[in-house]
Amino acid sequence: MSRTMTPVEVLSPPVPRSAVVPSEGSGAAARRLGVRKMPKLEWNDEVERATAHLYERIKTVVPPVEWPFFAPYVKAINELKRQRNAVILAHNYQTPEIYNCVADFVGDSLQLAREATKTKAEIIVQGGVHFMAETSKLLNPDKVVLIPDLLAGCSLAASITGEDVRLLRERFPGVPIVTYVNTSADVKAESDICCTSSNAVQVVESFGVDRVILIPDEFLARWVATQTKVKIIAWKGHCEVHERFTAEELRKYRETDPNLQILAHPECPPDVIAEADFTGSTSAMINWVKDHRPKKVVMVTECSMADNVQAETPGVEFVRPCNLCPYMKRITLPKILDSLVYLRHEVEIDPTIAERARRAVERMVRLKH
Ligand code: SF4
Repeated sequence: MSRTMTPVEVLSPPVPRSAVVPSEGSGAAARRLGVRKMPKLEWNDEVERATAHLYERIKTVVPPVEWPFFAPYVKAINELKRQRNAVILAHNYQTPEIYNCVADFVGDSLQLAREATKTKAEIIVQGGVHFMAETSKLLNPDKVVLIPDLLAGCSLAASITGEDVRLLRERFPGVPIVTYVNTSADVKAESDICCTSSNAVQVVESFGVDRVILIPDEFLARWVATQTKVKIIAWKGHCEVHERFTAEELRKYRETDPNLQILAHPECPPDVIAEADFTGSTSAMINWVKDHRPKKVVMVTECSMADNVQAETPGVEFVRPCNLCPYMKRITLPKILDSLVYLRHEVEIDPTIAERARRAVERMVRLKH
């Protein structure tokens, strides 16, 4: 189907914003469920035997010399998860030893939160950033949700506040506000509905109106505007990982092999998306590689994802432009273990904000696919 290009009006935040540092919880879960003794962490024959099947999964991306460091943590975390009745949700950008060896569910942020609603586990440990842990808590209010590092923030989520959204509503009365899930609960609470990079076009069109505010990612909004006739009002927020890619670097990759397949995330700048053979969310990119099995591919997104997909798709060669997300990389095996032992850091959301934010997320979840 051919689509018409639609103009995008981009608004700027009034002042630059620094990363949001979430507050530490009250430790209520630790008082209720108790803390455990830190397990002994040593590399020995027993640990090697118990984790050999897990190393098999990542041996193409984690060198043997590194495994003796990871394996004692992997064994301890998996045992403690069972004892605590806990699950680990790992985003596609988590490192291979987390994604493949300790996670119970993997995927994009919404997939993770949805999966968590189906689990009978009492505790959720979020292998991801703070807004993801908040979304998990919103959809699982009765569970204990833990984020292993309080500084696992997000440049995009930090680009906008609930107050900004209230001002937008005053400036554009009656225009629906769609908020990307990469935002704080405070921002979601001021929105009509949430969206992800995989359903943003569908959500924007669900109102049946000719103008919609889509915040805070400018580049996602620009991409959506190329896919719909709805006029988009955008916000000048960016993901600091995806905004660093350039069209020139992709052209250089293509020059080295004209058959190279380029997959780009919609948080990339428009000229980068224009160079891509496929644009989609992290899950859509993974499915594309599994379905098409290209000989050589470059995933224009956070670089751990290529490692994780590589482990699942032997035979596909990945070109790796390595843009790391510094916030995602704050989550490590030692911090996950710490989180399970001491039940920290518990995510708590003000109930009045949580109720309104949950409504925006659930409205999106209820949309038919
Ligand atoms: S990759 Fe970008 S959007 Fe995702 S957490 Fe990191 S900074 Fe935020």
